[in-house]
Amino acid sequence: MLSLFQNIIIRRTMLCLCAAVILWGGCGISDITAAQGSGLPVVNNSRVDSYSSSADIGAARKELYEQMSAATGIPWFRFAAVDQYERTIAKKSKPDSPATTRLTGITITPAVWSGPLNPNQGDTSPASISFFGGFGRDGSGDGLADPENDADVLYSVANHLLQYGDSANDFSIAIWEYYHNGRAAQRINQFAKLFEHFGRLDLSGNAFPLPLGNLYSYRSTWGTGRSWGGARIHEGTDLFAPQGMTVRSTCYGIVETKGWNRYGGWRIGIRDIENRYHYYAHLAGYDKSVSRGDIVTPGQTIGWVGSSGYGNPGTQGKFPPHLHYGIYRDRGIIEWAFDPYPLLKQWENKEYKALKNKKKVH
Ligand SMILES: [Zn+2]
Repeated sequence: MLSLFQNIIIRRTMLCLCAAVILWGGCGISDITAAQGSGLPVVNNSRVDSYSSSADIGAARKELYEQMSAATGIPWFRFAAVDQYERTIAKKSKPDSPATTRLTGITITPAVWSGPLNPNQGDTSPASISFFGGFGRDGSGDGLADPENDADVLYSVANHLLQYGDSANDFSIAIWEYYHNGRAAQRINQFAKLFEHFGRLDLSGNAFPLPLGNLYSYRSTWGTGRSWGGARIHEGTDLFAPQGMTVRSTCYGIVETKGWNRYGGWRIGIRDIENRYHYYAHLAGYDKSVSRGDIVTPGQTIGWVGSSGYGNPGTQGKFPPHLHYGIYRDRGIIEWAFDPYPLLKQWENKEYKALKNKKKVH
């Protein structure tokens, strides 16, 4: 027990030294600002509006995570996962928040940052923040712990994570202790797994859920009533297709649910990196390569069209075979459905265009 304790002390000391060397360049803040001319992203005070494309923003974010990783020993994908989670939760709900111009989307409330009993809720002094048990730390080396400074925010997150340990399980506990929200903890673990697996931040790219052709049909039926199970609106799109037709993942994601549901029958739920839950219902069966927690890619076979559902496990044939496809967006506390029809059309058209272009080349 004692050696474990000593280890932590040593590691924390090492952390401080490493952070000082890597982030502060050994000779003060001038080195960090000097990087501006060389085209490197500036750790201190990077703003989203200083980059011209989303790819540049992504590259700058990745670099920031990697710098912070080098300084603290925390893998870059854990910073990325926390940041991504906060960004997907903050989207649209607070468009004017300063976090929208910052490189990261992590927002820490004044009470948490400065300490709940700190009389100065706008405190940026590392010493008094620390005295009041606040979360805020100085990661940029300017002597201030500023909740609007990305380096300070990430370094503060690192400081919290390091109190728990290195393993994925330690990370889960640290995240749980910070958010006290099981969904947040689950999302952040899923995002970390996706980022780690693919080694990149950009996980955009989609596929239509069925193989293209003229064997399926679908219409926009958002919000129309349904006959079974009481007053529920229809949250999704029904794609009518022959029994046994391949069902494909529409996105990069992670399998969150798999199994029987009274309405959906054999269904599968996939979480993407934008915190959207893709729901595929009434399947005839699952591809055997797909289990809960597995990573999937756009176009990957996940199961087959069927007519399962609306009864006890195994119920089939109460309606014509079709794929019910729905998308839900997580907003932190609640999750709500939005109409997938426009996206389905968009993905289908895009895939048709890509196929045409391929044919032209050959
Ligand atoms: Zn449906």
